[in-house]
Amino acid sequence: MGGPPITGFSIRITTGEPQAGDAPTLTATGQAVAINVPAGGLHWSGWALTASAPIPSADGVTVVLAGELYHRDALRVAIGPSADGVNDDAELLLACWLRYGAPGLRLLDGRFAAVVTEGDTVVAATDHAGTVPLYVRHGQDGLAIATEAKALRHGGPSEPLPGTESVPGNTGVRRVRAGTAVAVVPSSGKASAIRTWLPPEHRIVLPEEEAVRRVYTVLDEAVRSRLDGGPVTVVLSGGIDSSSVAALTRQSGVETISLGTDAGDEFEAARTVADHIGTRHSEFRVGSEDLVRQLPWAVAAAEIIDADVLEYLLPLVVMYRLLPGAGRRILTGYGADIPLGGMHRATRRLDSLDTVISDDMNTFDGLNEMSPVLGCLAGHWTTHPYWDRSVLDVLTALEPGLKRRHGRDKWVLREAMRDLLPEATVSRPKLGIHEGSGTTSVWTSMLLDAGVAAADVPRAKRAMAIAIHDRVVGQAEPPADVSFDDVLRDVIASPSLAVV
Ligand code: ATP
Ligand code: MG
Ligand code: MG
Ligand code: MG
Repeated sequence: MGGPPITGFSIRITTGEPQAGDAPTLTATGQAVAINVPAGGLHWSGWALTASAPIPSADGVTVVLAGELYHRDALRVAIGPSADGVNDDAELLLACWLRYGAPGLRLLDGRFAAVVTEGDTVVAATDHAGTVPLYVRHGQDGLAIATEAKALRHGGPSEPLPGTESVPGNTGVRRVRAGTAVAVVPSSGKASAIRTWLPPEHRIVLPEEEAVRRVYTVLDEAVRSRLDGGPVTVVLSGGIDSSSVAALTRQSGVETISLGTDAGDEFEAARTVADHIGTRHSEFRVGSEDLVRQLPWAVAAAEIIDADVLEYLLPLVVMYRLLPGAGRRILTGYGADIPLGGMHRATRRLDSLDTVISDDMNTFDGLNEMSPVLGCLAGHWTTHPYWDRSVLDVLTALEPGLKRRHGRDKWVLREAMRDLLPEATVSRPKLGIHEGSGTTSVWTSMLLDAGVAAADVPRAKRAMAIAIHDRVVGQAEPPADVSFDDVLRDVIASPSLAVV
C-alpha cells in the first residue's frame, strides 16, 4: 500500500513466558502478523498490521514503529555512520535511540506511534502531536500497548501512568499524551514520562515578505516529504488549505477527489483548482442522510465522543470508504485552521484570535482528528502536511497580525500560495467541511424529525456518540453492526432527553 510498513499494532509485554493470544479487533484493516520476540529481559507478543512485521533489534534494544518519519536525510546526518543507507523508519529510530537514548525521540519529525524496549524498560512514544493515537494498559497482568483503545478493552483498569490521560468509556485504558514518551519498568512498576514537543507560546514578528516566504518554504517541504514516489491522492475541497497541498504536490498523475451530498457540495471550487493545476479529478456525491448514518464508522476510527469533531471527521471517513482502489497515500489539508485561527470568524481585535489559537493548540490532544485509522479502516494511509512538526512550529508562532491581515483570514497562507493558485481560490472564504457537506445540519434535522427539541440537539448528538462509542470501542462491535437509527431511537427513549 501507499502507506508505511506498519500502520498499527497491539502488543503485550511480559517478564515471563508469553501467552498466545488471539488477533486483536482493530478498526484499521490490513494483514495482522503475529509478533513473538524476546526484547531485552522482556518478551513481546502480539500483532502488527503489516505485510512483513519488521521489528528491528540491536544491542538489547527492540523497536516497533507504526507510521513514518519525514526528515530522514537530516536525521541520518545527525545520527552518523550507523544510519548510512538506512531507509526503514523503525531501523532509523533504532539507530537514533542507540546514539541518543530516549531524548532522541525529541529529534523525530513524523507521524508515528512507537514502542522501544531496552533492558527491563519499555518506552511508549507518540509523535509531536500524537497524530497516531497510542493506548496503554498497565495492570496485574502486565503491560499492553496498542494503536487502538478497543484492542486493550479486556482486563482491569490501568494504573494511572505519568504522561497518560484517561479516555472516554469504560475500557480502563490510558492514552499516551501527544509529544510524550512514557517509560515503564514492568517488573517494578516504576514509571516516568518526558515531553518531546510542546506547542510554541511565543509569537514571531516578521515583515510580510519574510513571513510569506517562510510559510511557503516549510509547507512545500512538508508536502514533498510526504510523497513517496508512488501515486498520491489529495482530498480537495477547493478551500485554501487543501488547494495549497494539491498545488504543492507538483508531480504528474496526482489524483484529487471531492465529496458532496444532496445537502451541499464545493464541487465548482474544487474543479477550478483541479483544472488549474492539472490533476485527475473526481467527484463523489452521497446522500446526506446516508452519510450521517455512517457515524459508527467515524466513532470506531477516532474512538472519541466529541460530536463537533465527529462532524468534521465523518465526511472524510465516508469519502475514504467510497474510494475505489486499495492502499492509497492520501494527503489532506486538515488542521490548517488550528494554528492559523481559520475558524475564528470574529473580525475585531487580534487578542481574541491569538487566545483561540493558543487554547486550541493546548487542547487538541485526545481529539484524535489526525488518527490514521480514519483512512486505514478502508485500507488507505492519510497524512496531514499542516501538522508536520516544522509547519506547526512556524504557523503557530507567527504573530496573529500575519494570520488576519488586510481583512483576510489565513492571510499569510493565502499570500504564500498566490502564484500557484487561481485568484478565486486564494480569496475564497473558509468553509468548514461539516458545513460544505451539510453534515452538521442534516444530523440536526434527523434529530428534530425524530422529535428531539431544538435545545436538546447538542445533548442528543453527544448521547448518540457515547452510545455508539460504548459498542464499537467498549465492546469492539464492528461498526457495520451498529445501526444509527437504533441508537437514535434508544437515545430518544432515554429519560434525560425531552421529546416534543
Ligand atoms: P478552508 O478551511 O479554507 O475551508 P479547506 O476546505 O481545505 O480550506 P477544511 O474546510 O478545514 O479545509 O477541511 C479540512 C480538510 O478536509 C480539507 O483541507 C480537505 O483536505 C478535506 N475536505 C474538506 N471538505 C472536503 C470535500 N468536500 N471534499 C474533499 N475533501 C474535503
Ligand atoms: Mg483545515
Ligand atoms: Mg481548513
Ligand atoms: Mg473548507
